[in-house]
Amino acid sequence: MKAATKEFLKMAGGWRRLDRALHGYIYYVHYDGYVRVVLRLGRWLVKHFPRSRFVRTAYDYFFNRYHAKVLREEDARKFVMLHRDIHADPSIAEQIIPFKIANRIVLENPEYIAVTDCPCRLEKGPDYLEEHNDLPVNVCLAIGKTTVNFWLEKIPQRHTRRITSEEALQIIADGHKKGWINTIWLKDATGGRTGILCNCSKWSCGGIEAMKLAGLLKRTRPKSPNILIPSGYVARLDEEKCIGGGTCVEVCPFDACKLNPATKKAETVYDKCMGCGACVDFCKGEARELVLDPNKGTPLDLDKL
Ligand code: SF4
Ligand code: SF4
Ligand code: SF4
Repeated sequence: MKAATKEFLKMAGGWRRLDRALHGYIYYVHYDGYVRVVLRLGRWLVKHFPRSRFVRTAYDYFFNRYHAKVLREEDARKFVMLHRDIHADPSIAEQIIPFKIANRIVLENPEYIAVTDCPCRLEKGPDYLEEHNDLPVNVCLAIGKTTVNFWLEKIPQRHTRRITSEEALQIIADGHKKGWINTIWLKDATGGRTGILCNCSKWSCGGIEAMKLAGLLKRTRPKSPNILIPSGYVARLDEEKCIGGGTCVEVCPFDACKLNPATKKAETVYDKCMGCGACVDFCKGEARELVLDPNKGTPLDLDKL
């Protein structure tokens, strides 16, 4: 077994959690197939069994072990400019990533960055991506030596390559010009910690789709987890400055913007806003800004860790 694989299996669970380590191995080595199967199964279950308690429980189980935090662009940029290791205190990490499992904010050797093809986009197929102006696909970022070396060793066929911080910044900036957002993913089977920084679009992101599918299950229990958690910010709207037109309605990945037909001005659906900032990037009237909101959780700001 090569050194990169050994290191990865150790990080993902080691001998004590061999089930997680093997799951993590299969997950990354067959990343596109894994995401395809999970998404198609998720869609099928919601379509055919929307009222099933079993399906609701299965979604809860999955979301508790595989989830992401939405990041402002500014906070995402810090991930690829980090030149020190981070081991956040568990009590702080639990506030930022409020899950019992997969909530570790750990970054080791973050100067190692790699990019690979996005499995959510691959699942959609080239015609869909072109129709939705959702290319390129080579935009999924790994940060940290262990995952980077493992990706380079095991998934070169997905155009995996090591890149500099500047190239990673460019990928993030180019994505924001298209209305993409940033998410940082954690999964129990990959060590339960931060390290994958995604550049997600409302058209292709499996996480955003899974969140909307879960909404169709009417999971009204207050403690039902969701696969995505808000950035800690909310979009504030200055109605005076709003010039209408509804660009924010088009770009918002979470259906949190709408136009009031009477006033022709925008409104924000507070409960749906995830604080991603896409509406702010595209608002020509400069009517929107992200503001801290304690009801939306604690931001993941690496400068404060
Ligand atoms: S979460 Fe985002 S970048 Fe990551 S694989 Fe899915 S769409 Fe691609
Ligand atoms: S993008 Fe800005 S100006 Fe346009 S409708 Fe939305 S808030 Fe108003
Ligand atoms: S309203 Fe703006 S900040 Fe909130 S989810 Fe939509 S695009 Fe993101």
